[in-house]
Amino acid sequence: MTDSPSIVTASKWLTQSSSILVAAGAGLSASAISRKYNVGLDYTSSVAFDRLYPRMLQVSTMRCMYDAIGKHDWSPKLMWGYLFTHVNLARYNWGETDVYQDLKRIVRHIPDSFVVTTNADGMFEQNGFDMQRFLSTQGDYSLLQCLKPCSSQAVFDAREYMDRALPYVDPKTFEVPSKFIPKCPRCGSDMFYCVRGGDWFLESAFDDQRRRYRDFLNRSVNKGRGGLLTIVEIGVGFNTPSVLRWPMEELVTNHDNVRLIRINMHAPDVPTNVRNRAVAFGGDAASIIQRLSEIVSNSS
Ligand SMILES: [Zn+2]
Repeated sequence: MTDSPSIVTASKWLTQSSSILVAAGAGLSASAISRKYNVGLDYTSSVAFDRLYPRMLQVSTMRCMYDAIGKHDWSPKLMWGYLFTHVNLARYNWGETDVYQDLKRIVRHIPDSFVVTTNADGMFEQNGFDMQRFLSTQGDYSLLQCLKPCSSQAVFDAREYMDRALPYVDPKTFEVPSKFIPKCPRCGSDMFYCVRGGDWFLESAFDDQRRRYRDFLNRSVNKGRGGLLTIVEIGVGFNTPSVLRWPMEELVTNHDNVRLIRINMHAPDVPTNVRNRAVAFGGDAASIIQRLSEIVSNSS
């Protein structure tokens, strides 16, 4: 099989790069096929939801995982029964997947690297990426926080709350007894995952990650070193374009040592003014990343 011109260009940039920035959105995890369930972590898919949580179709109005976001017509017992179950699976037990492992192989061939993602699912951690080179912009399902919030310190490891509750989630009703619904240990208020769901979000929990991201950008776009920075943006659409999509376009527009590889099934367009420094792929992320990983691995 002959590689497309875009694949040739993208792999050439990658092998020449001194640094790589992976910018990942929901589309990447959607193509991360679970070896156990044989579906991707696709929040909009009714097929995936039915495969993972068939019982939820009976006891709730949910039809896909995305329906849980901002959902109000369920009891706290059902909400936490579902959320604990879902986070336990998606954040901790999805396991290694081909697309993330191929991506990791690419990253390892490039001297300096960083990952920035809007996904709170911990997939990069589950696939063994370096968490010192990682920013989760929208929070992380491994943390709970006070909804008040009573303090900037009111952020807690979700694991222990989940482990206590999971054995008591009723498999028929998906409900968890009230005593396992998490309350803030400091003030007793309701808690939720530490994710950008409202102005209560304690973003300060991610200050260290954000500082390391800024440091990476400072050194990798610094043209004095003569290095090339390639951005591999995967599955970043128009849900929250100001978080990743537009900033990536800005980086390639403003710095002529930056290249952009955009992989997006639904919106692969790149700005016309940077067409010589950007390539776009509209197909399935998993197969494109697999091919790039093969070429980059064989080049050294
Ligand atoms: Zn509190």
